[in-house]
Amino acid sequence: MSREYSLERTRNIGIIAHIDAGKTTTTERILFYTKKIHRMGEVHEGAATMDWMVQEQERGITITAAATTCFWLDHRINIIDTPGHVDFTAEVERSLRVLDGGIVIFDAVAGVEPQSETVWRQANKYNVPRICFVNKMDRVGADFWRTIQMIRDRLGANPLPIQLPIGAESDFKGFIDLIEQHAVIFLDELGTRPEPTPIPAELEEEAKRHRDALIERVAETDEELTLKYLEGEEITKDEIRAALRKATIAGTLVPVLCGSSLRNKGVQALLDAVVAYLPSPLDIPPPVGIDPNTGEQVTLTVADDAPFSALAFKIVSDPFVGRLAYLRVYSGTLTKGSSVENTTKGKTERIGRLLRMHANHREDIDEIRAGDICAAVGLRNTFTGDTLCDPQHPVILESISFPEPVIEIAIEPKTRGDQDKMTIALSKLAEEDPTFQVRTDPESGQTIIRGMGELHLEVIVDRLFREFKVEANIGRPQVAYRETITREATAQGRYVRQTGGRGQYGDVWIRVEPNPGKGFEFINAIVGGVIPKEYIKPVEV
Ligand code: GDP
Repeated sequence: MSREYSLERTRNIGIIAHIDAGKTTTTERILFYTKKIHRMGEVHEGAATMDWMVQEQERGITITAAATTCFWLDHRINIIDTPGHVDFTAEVERSLRVLDGGIVIFDAVAGVEPQSETVWRQANKYNVPRICFVNKMDRVGADFWRTIQMIRDRLGANPLPIQLPIGAESDFKGFIDLIEQHAVIFLDELGTRPEPTPIPAELEEEAKRHRDALIERVAETDEELTLKYLEGEEITKDEIRAALRKATIAGTLVPVLCGSSLRNKGVQALLDAVVAYLPSPLDIPPPVGIDPNTGEQVTLTVADDAPFSALAFKIVSDPFVGRLAYLRVYSGTLTKGSSVENTTKGKTERIGRLLRMHANHREDIDEIRAGDICAAVGLRNTFTGDTLCDPQHPVILESISFPEPVIEIAIEPKTRGDQDKMTIALSKLAEEDPTFQVRTDPESGQTIIRGMGELHLEVIVDRLFREFKVEANIGRPQVAYRETITREATAQGRYVRQTGGRGQYGDVWIRVEPNPGKGFEFINAIVGGVIPKEYIKPVEV
């Protein structure tokens, strides 16, 4: 069977933004214009949705990194959803690990916000090529040029406007395409693809100035074009686009577009730019892994007939099909019903169903090929960051790094009989989310949950209630030792000692107590930390 979409015509992208910049609205418009949903507002109404979970809609945040497929200009675009709230930066991290390019959305009034800086740096870490979308051009105070200046100053990037906005605030009408040299003015409310029109006379001079600057900056990135430019030869639109594509993928230039997702302006051009400038899986350096048998480095071949390898980047318990593992396939072809090796865990797994997620339906597919993204059903032992591969060609891909949780709270069910149910539910949630941990404090018997921030843990408590019907109370964990760890306590032989840290919350404390017949034994350990294994050994006190 031949491929439906060639690798060259595949884009795996993320939409990255500060919370409230308009990621949900832009995603929804993309799905509308790519005909995945048929009515604006569907996403918010919860019929077709990227934000799968109810509380996300209520809170206006996006937590899951669900991947959705859509099509534009004969290209397949897989959109990997990434959250914008600071408590979910780990989710952003895992998405960045598996996507090839990103749209970064800014609010034209707020410009570069603190969270945009965090995400930008994360994207730098993974060398993700980007294009920028200055959204909300219709808002009072919208300023395209100030946002561009902020992208340059705060993010240290090299932004290149490829459009000029026409009007701003309530007078925002459309844009001038600096490469095509025409204007796009939106006349109807739905922003149905408008016909390009000549550049308005009063903007001609400004447009020319910006176009000249664009050509100069693009030419600079390419030796041949530099020569042409210096010799005063004409540089064609195709040459500009090709050089800009290269520079975007190399990260030396970042194309910037403008629009208003809410007013349906500029989203189609943004999709055009995804196709034109963001990389296909073939445009980025081939992924490397380690052969677990020899320890040698293996460079993967991004091709359908190469040995299969994939990275699991998200585990979700789905109410309809059960445990779903989202996979980014790097090489080869994965077939439904086949057995694969989870080299991270050293286990063989059988692939049940393979699903391609669209905004409005899930499609059962028989196989998934290099460079694509899908969700697999039936993987029992696979977790986020695990490598799956052809058992004959074992490889371990670099995993996804997750930060340690930063806060913890105690949690107890409102109804006593719910303790077991809660424990099971929490362990399921922890399985989905590597930055969420659960433990029982051996001293107080309390169940302690740990996560990346208050919102993160609140969402967990919400999900306990909605998905598992367990109502829970949360509160500060009982701190057992803080007051006992004193100089006198140790001097009096109360078997308490500190390992590392400067006596702050989060340090590791260890207490030993006599255990008749066995010398001393550790019985408890922490104030807000996990006991590293190496600390757990008998100590004569
Ligand atoms: P997210 O948090 O990044 O997903 O942002 P949303 O898409 O939920 O948008 C946040 C708020 O900004 C919502 O109230 C949107 O209606 C609004 N919004 C999104 N795009 C635009 C826009 O282009 N113009 C204006 N004025 N508001 C917008």
